[in-house]
Amino acid sequence: MARCDYCIIPSVRPGLQSRSPQDIEDEVRRLIDNGYKEIIITGIHVGHYGVDTTRGRSGVPPFRLWHLFKQLDRIPGNWRMRLSSIEAVEVNDDFISAAADCEHLCPQFHPALQSGSEAVLQRMRRRYSVQAFLEKLARMREVLVNPSFTTDVIVGFPGETDAEFEETLETCRIAGFSKVHVFPFSTRKGTPAATFPDQVPAEVRKARVQTLGELERELAESYYRTLVGTELEVLVERESERDGWVKGTDRRYVPVELPGSVTDLGGFVRAVGQTATRHQLVSSRVEEACTQGCGSLCESHCS
Ligand code: SF4
Repeated sequence: MARCDYCIIPSVRPGLQSRSPQDIEDEVRRLIDNGYKEIIITGIHVGHYGVDTTRGRSGVPPFRLWHLFKQLDRIPGNWRMRLSSIEAVEVNDDFISAAADCEHLCPQFHPALQSGSEAVLQRMRRRYSVQAFLEKLARMREVLVNPSFTTDVIVGFPGETDAEFEETLETCRIAGFSKVHVFPFSTRKGTPAATFPDQVPAEVRKARVQTLGELERELAESYYRTLVGTELEVLVERESERDGWVKGTDRRYVPVELPGSVTDLGGFVRAVGQTATRHQLVSSRVEEACTQGCGSLCESHCS
């Protein structure tokens, strides 16, 4: 199992323990029966799901994360599942092809980059190079339809120079993330990184959080723009601040605002992306969108 230099998890949860597929399926069925519309498949090192169930046991057929997707995907109904995170090194062709085939699985993936600088990745003891990470994203883009990639980045890792931080910005631009969770490095007692020299001053970490946050909003808007004119499946979560509108989340984890009311809360609404901003995609409901192909609200254009 990976042991990144900044992370305490391997010390407190040293072994893999996979729940049985049937146990997971039973829980997912229960949740759907109780009205839940979106199920998050989550765990620590979830990309290693099932490895522990066959290790050292000859004759036991492997059952990995992509097998679980396929098993769950057979559950009928109007619901969807989302994978919470995946390490880029754990994405292989079996994973990608299951992701493409499973209609209930959202085309949004969260491979944690942590740093876009080769040197910093090595100091963190991450298990991939920047190039390998980007190649995995490119491979998924070849097979899946406009997938969305979100990520985590730690800024101000010990010794991170201005040039290394710039490399991270550039990698994020190339990756085209739709969301970046930016964390200033903070020490975890008991991890190697806590004792590293060259700790980055707090004000530098703070400035880098802001810089990357700015880039994140630009990248988000660029990605949202690719969805203008396309059909969305929005899970409506709350009322908007403006009357007659609601807010929710699309399959690609895009925040969407659309016309609606409290009666939409907790359900899916089909919508068409209209205007991308730095924070959301303003959309129309499918029934209100133009049928002549312009993608706008009929009310404001054709009538
Ligand atoms: S892969 Fe994730 S959970 Fe594992 S040590 Fe690294 S950061 Fe921690």
